[in-house]
Amino acid sequence: MVMDCLRETRVGNVLSGWNHLSVVGPINVQNTAGARIQLSSGEWCDDYIMGWGSCLLGHDSPVIKHSISKALERGFLQQYETDEHRLLSEKFCAVVPCAEKLRLVNSGLEATMYATRIARAVTGKRIIIKFEGHFHGLNDSLTWNVDSSPRSGEVLAGGELERLSGTVGIPNEFGSLTVAVSWNDLQAVEHAFEKYKDDVAGVILEPVALNLGCIKPDEGFLQKLRALTTRHGALLIFDEVLTGFRANIGGAQKDFAVTPDIAAFGKAFGCGMPIAGIAGKAEYMDVIAPRGPVQISGTNTGRYLSVSAALAAIEHLQDGAVHRHVAALESQLKSGLRDVFDKHRIPCHIDGYGGRIGVHIGTSERPRTMKEIEGFYPIDFAQKLFYLLSCEYNLYGFLMPLGYCPEPVTLSAAHTAEMIADACERLDSALKRIPFHGK
Ligand code: PLP
Repeated sequence: MVMDCLRETRVGNVLSGWNHLSVVGPINVQNTAGARIQLSSGEWCDDYIMGWGSCLLGHDSPVIKHSISKALERGFLQQYETDEHRLLSEKFCAVVPCAEKLRLVNSGLEATMYATRIARAVTGKRIIIKFEGHFHGLNDSLTWNVDSSPRSGEVLAGGELERLSGTVGIPNEFGSLTVAVSWNDLQAVEHAFEKYKDDVAGVILEPVALNLGCIKPDEGFLQKLRALTTRHGALLIFDEVLTGFRANIGGAQKDFAVTPDIAAFGKAFGCGMPIAGIAGKAEYMDVIAPRGPVQISGTNTGRYLSVSAALAAIEHLQDGAVHRHVAALESQLKSGLRDVFDKHRIPCHIDGYGGRIGVHIGTSERPRTMKEIEGFYPIDFAQKLFYLLSCEYNLYGFLMPLGYCPEPVTLSAAHTAEMIADACERLDSALKRIPFHGK
């Protein structure tokens, strides 16, 4: 036993934390094909996590593979800029409404961290308003009031929430410039602007709260935030790390016709390759060095292999065929899930965006906030169901529960109508084996 522990050099058997799925544990994969993964046991599973939303084109997309192998012929070109870098920024800025300029980074965490740095530099103010349950990566100033916090925050005067860290290891002081409010609570945002008057640098949000299991904004909410931020001289920051490139090439900002000042992109931007970006209006982006004084860089930023893949992905997505295919699969899965849960008389609210479908078991009403979800989501039942689906029905990541809410089921261009019909049948079979009990 001691020897085993000594020999195990990975923390909790994983090198990358999120590969340790709740309830199921780490999964060792030896191969992938399309939207399927082959476990080290040799068994194949249908994948409904798809690189946490990044593998929009599947696990072995010929488009991405070809771009990478072509790029490799020229060496790694580490930290050199090429024509492809310029082309990528031109294509990106041609399709994303807020993007007049683009700066590349490696991860969503960096992109949101730098987006708030830009907001502070541009405005000379300090406070960032965020929404409870919206996840912006594990950076110290934004990992507050998220799904990994011990609970949802108490509502304080004016709708501001008690600030709760999403991880041990971040001193309270790091959150002191972050103000959390409930998603869709416009009054609380207004109140925060009143209370912190001249000190609000920006409001950051997921335009569709996929980290709450896909909760869209109330009608007109994004437009009101747009007006409020403009009125108070604060920047509106969309975190499009999850929404970007998934439903259409312009992101959620295009779908909702609300243009933020700056936006963070990642995940499907690289379709499996590590790349992220911050994009925005020129007047804001030009605070970044070398044009301005704000430092945003890194040894691995703008890596040529990732740039080649991102460029190939944008070109491939341009005609809309991928998005139409994923939208059709999303409709099929939503109605298939509806039928199965209705058949088993299990209340649930189902919604989707960009091929990511959230199933809020335990309510028939659309929830609006994390606190509401915490109130009804039957975590024990969800965990049992997830375990069964993963371990006995070979569905990887299907209906996975997070701390308080569902992780959306993630589709890709490589999924098929047959896979979805099959997943619904397996769900039906699993539900016959575990009686539903609410929270
Ligand atoms: N923003 C959102 C909306 C996310 O969902 C995530 C990760 O899941 C991030 C930012 C962080 O991205 P990364 O994991 O690339 O750091």
